[in-house]
Amino acid sequence: MITASERIDSLAASIRLAKIDLNGIFLDKNDVTPCRAIELYLEKQLQMRVEKQNLLRRKKANLPFKKTLEEFDFGFQRSVTKEQMLRLADMTWLEQAYNICFLGPPGIGKTHLAAGLVSQALDLGYAAYFTTLDALMMLLKTEEISGKSRGALKYMRKAALITIDEVGFMPLSKDEANLFFRFVSEMSEKTSLIITSNKGFDEWADFLGDATITTAILDRLIHHCEIINMSGDSYRLTHRKSILG
Ligand code: ADP
Ligand code: MG
Repeated sequence: MITASERIDSLAASIRLAKIDLNGIFLDKNDVTPCRAIELYLEKQLQMRVEKQNLLRRKKANLPFKKTLEEFDFGFQRSVTKEQMLRLADMTWLEQAYNICFLGPPGIGKTHLAAGLVSQALDLGYAAYFTTLDALMMLLKTEEISGKSRGALKYMRKAALITIDEVGFMPLSKDEANLFFRFVSEMSEKTSLIITSNKGFDEWADFLGDATITTAILDRLIHHCEIINMSGDSYRLTHRKSILG
């Protein structure tokens, strides 16, 4: 004997709605009118759909770790203030395709803050993507031959925010510098970029290998950009954990 709740599940599945525990939504609710029952059921469907989309968006964002802005110790890193980050955390700058550059030496929290902002964007419902420059180069170079790379780039092109981490770690070839320019240029005015770099802008020509392309990249990048110069001691080195305690 099929129960009413099983029939509802089966009907829901046939129109691609989620399976819902009816006892869960009607528990403690006596005297629910038919209209109210439908409303409660649809509200639950909507909530589950949003949660599923949020999870999927987070998965697609390619974040290396879940670091949030709340976990950041602004007492330790004093070149950026909590107020500054809270202001950025409303994410309204994504609407104007503003960029942010975090510049400074290793271990001072550039990746943490960049990942924290991506996480915040995801929480607010924006599509966002996190990559290192190295991984981005790989995607761009294999776009023609790899469906996976094409898929990732297609997702990035529709995203509101892309973080490109670790710019300047490795020197780029002339072709790579050109690919990087084309990418930044394609994103400018439409997609916000967060760039982290251990090199100041005056040193970018060293790893990009060419003064003209460097000027062209920086020109696109800095036009609408918050530049956050960071300094200080490495958090990793200061909070180093020893095996011997
Ligand atoms: P960077 O990208 O500048 O090299 P990271 O963001 O990777 O530095 O930081 C290195 C590690 O230290 C990460 O695990 C990060 O979460 C942590 N960290 C750095 N700065 C802070 C901070 N001010 N408060 C809390 N954690 C921090
Ligand atoms: Mg980093």
